Amino acid sequence: MSSLLLTGGRVIDPASRFDAPADVLIRDGKIVAVGADIAKRVDSDTERVDVSGLVVCPGLIDLHVHLREPGQSAKETIATGTQAAARGGFTTLVCMPNTSPAIDNAGTVALIRDKAARDGIVNVFVAGAITKGIAGEELAPIGSLKQAGVVAITDDGHCVQNNELMRRALEYAKMFDLPVMDHCQDYALVSDGVMHEGYWSTALGLRGWPASGEDMIVARNILLAELTGTHVHCQHLSTARSVELLRAAKKRGVTISGEACPHHFTLTDAAIAGSEKFWSADGKGVFGVDSSADCLPSWPVYDTNFKMNPPLRSARDREAILEGLADGTIDVLCSDHAPHCDYEKEVEFDYAPFGITGLETELALSLMQLYHTRRLSLSDMIAKFTVAPARILRLSKGTLSVGADADVTVLDPDRPWVFHREDSASKSRNSPFEGWPMKGKAVMTMVRGSIVWREETEPANVQLNSANR
Ligand SMILES: [Zn+2]
Repeated sequence: MSSLLLTGGRVIDPASRFDAPADVLIRDGKIVAVGADIAKRVDSDTERVDVSGLVVCPGLIDLHVHLREPGQSAKETIATGTQAAARGGFTTLVCMPNTSPAIDNAGTVALIRDKAARDGIVNVFVAGAITKGIAGEELAPIGSLKQAGVVAITDDGHCVQNNELMRRALEYAKMFDLPVMDHCQDYALVSDGVMHEGYWSTALGLRGWPASGEDMIVARNILLAELTGTHVHCQHLSTARSVELLRAAKKRGVTISGEACPHHFTLTDAAIAGSEKFWSADGKGVFGVDSSADCLPSWPVYDTNFKMNPPLRSARDREAILEGLADGTIDVLCSDHAPHCDYEKEVEFDYAPFGITGLETELALSLMQLYHTRRLSLSDMIAKFTVAPARILRLSKGTLSVGADADVTVLDPDRPWVFHREDSASKSRNSPFEGWPMKGKAVMTMVRGSIVWREETEPANVQLNSANR
């Protein structure tokens, strides 16, 4: 029996509405007790880790990650992706099926689960495809995907355009009790757009990806969720109208939810015109300083690290996403961690692939935009990284209740640090947040009672019972 006691922290467990100073006792990979006076009761040979001044919360969950295996291991592997997750404070990931080949059959699901058990240092759950080859034409074998262990289906990176096919996907998913996650993009409206359609796309001479291209599919998903009763989860929402549609649908009791990524509520499309334009147009208030401050990071115009899908939107959209997070319309925070090789991103803006890394910056950016600005309490923000995704995907994770797996994140919500791409554990470097001063950081990550990552400035590592994984 191996035991570990986290002493002196502020324990926040939104699932059980607990937020108080307490100790957490872990034994054999499980939470055994949470309370104020545990330290006195445990035997003296129990390993103790002093976490006073820090927040202890359930291990964070990111339900939208591209681990790139199989087939694209030059960008990321299950090993490097889960290491980046651990450094970011994440103990559980859901990997997207747009790999090569796509995760559209039981064999590929088994391959990833096998590999994750061997190489992964955090929990990896798999999302299966809605359609074969993510081609949007023929349904994938949803029943056998479920049997193989997927926790949801999505064609992420792509979007099923045929509404009748999507309806059938939802009906099958309901029979197998699977939520359907959707990347909301109307191909006809978006065409070959590469950035948000608006003032800056015109000024920069880049083809526009209109907000209506997302709104249209969010509206479609609401109607189909209402028709079928299946839970639909709208991925990486970026527009004001999407938030409005979701808010009204939830009021009617539609089984729908949504997620947002930090880049969409931190940056705007002005960032593609370069740092100077961004700070003077929309960047005021990002660090709570004025745009003449000299701590502001800089980047060039047409920097492809600011190209993602959906694209960075207008300042009004950014504000609407923040409001949607604050009033509960948007349930979940996630990264859409999408690693790409340097050589792929170092091309003209039009030709670069969409996507940025995010596992190591999402917690800090969320704290900065939601907690430090007082839009959300710390507990409500942590809920969007823990109990909310766990409930949508029916995972027995995201809580510190007695008997739960000891997946634990220890974080310092106020710690100042600077993000540098070269320090990242990810195999890729495509982050727009190079050199950004951050506030708030995970300092220790535990999966089933084992410390999988710990800030180096802390005292020596405490490793226990590595066999329990
Ligand atoms: Zn997507």
